[in-house]
Amino acid sequence: MNSTKQYLALRQAIDSLSESLEGQHKNHMKCKTGCDLCCMDYSVFPIEFHSILNALKVDKTVPAINKDTLKEDCIFLNNHQCSIYEERPIICRTHGLPLLFMGEDGNWELSACELNFTEFDMEEFAEENTFPQDKFNSKLFMLNKEFIKEFKEVEYGEFDLIPLKKLKEYL
Ligand code: SF4
Repeated sequence: MNSTKQYLALRQAIDSLSESLEGQHKNHMKCKTGCDLCCMDYSVFPIEFHSILNALKVDKTVPAINKDTLKEDCIFLNNHQCSIYEERPIICRTHGLPLLFMGEDGNWELSACELNFTEFDMEEFAEENTFPQDKFNSKLFMLNKEFIKEFKEVEYGEFDLIPLKKLKEYL
């Protein structure tokens, strides 16, 4: 399996886990159309950028671009809806969930949406009911390393990120 196929498999695994966590936290999750607090002007690894671009080209989809967006907002957010929802990057697939990650000081940190987890005892967060962000980010990093070796059109460094909004230049 090439790195792009492995990326899609990783994305699927993330969707499955996110769905399971949403089920576990269904009494707290209030994410719905109209809430876009998590939507920002993200940058992504080349493997994600080119996978999203290819999928949009294959589908012959030209997503709606928000021209009135503020600098820090995502250009694919139109009327509070994502115009590339099916192909959105991994960072957007865990929006609203409690995320567990290692902070810069080496201690575990938890990020939980302030709109969802209004009445939740922080002590109840555990490995089983949080999204292990670092585990998936490490996998993504390794797959991206393979991808940039295989990709001949542009020479990328392993820490290079591409602003998602650059997609509009190719569509
Ligand atoms: S790609 Fe979609 S879900 Fe992700 S930040 Fe942009 S509008 Fe939001």
